[in-house]
Amino acid sequence: MKLVIFGPPGSGKGTYASRLKSELNIATISTGDIFREAVKQGTELGKRIKKYLDTGQLVPDETVIKAVRNRIAKPDCEKGFILDGFPRTVEQAKTLEKAVKIDVIIKLLVPKQIIIERLSNRRTCKSCGAIYNLRALKPEKEGICDKCGGPLIQRKDDTIPVIKERFQVFEKQTRPLMEYYESKVPFINVTCNDIDMPPEEAIEQIMKELKKLNLTRTSRSD
Ligand code: ADP
Ligand code: ZN
Repeated sequence: MKLVIFGPPGSGKGTYASRLKSELNIATISTGDIFREAVKQGTELGKRIKKYLDTGQLVPDETVIKAVRNRIAKPDCEKGFILDGFPRTVEQAKTLEKAVKIDVIIKLLVPKQIIIERLSNRRTCKSCGAIYNLRALKPEKEGICDKCGGPLIQRKDDTIPVIKERFQVFEKQTRPLMEYYESKVPFINVTCNDIDMPPEEAIEQIMKELKKLNLTRTSRSD
């Protein structure tokens, strides 16, 4: 199964991707995580792309495509994968289409006000990348990751001016993708109108829809 999670910045792509990963037992590919890790490690790639991440601009298509290609070639992707944050431009989608057939797109619909509230309350584990929210998804101990004990930090691009820029980039460069995919790939729409809605609710909804589409064969519960 090959699945794309699509939505504006802060719509919950990463949170849903990591939960669906354990439901479906397939790999997740988050281009944002790959890039943040490269920046953290100070690799050649990291040095080249830091400025895009810090300012909320898109990393150039060739660089993104190369990173995704390398990732998809790894053995854990054989059974399928969840794409989180990719594709983000029509160019990226066209390249992906040549290599991979996408089964379904999960489209997250979240009002902007909720997103801003969420992003400004978001905390990420510096060690393992787990995502928390000071309102809806609190860690057990303040400032500490439940999963690995690492410190929770705020992402550099989760500040109001960069959040605004990311929205603009999304509207201009990423939203047109929806037209591109229309009538090519089935969609599952997930609406979140309540900031305190637990992610489990959305996951349940997504799993139901995947079953309807007959796409849960790799699921552990089968
Ligand atoms: P969000 O969707 O919340 O903005 P991500 O973690 O998906 O955050 O992405 C963070 C940053 O990484 C983006 O602002 C962009 O600079 C870069 N990035 C991630 N995925 C892509 C992509 N597919 N194409 C171009 N840039 C990307
Ligand atoms: Zn952690």
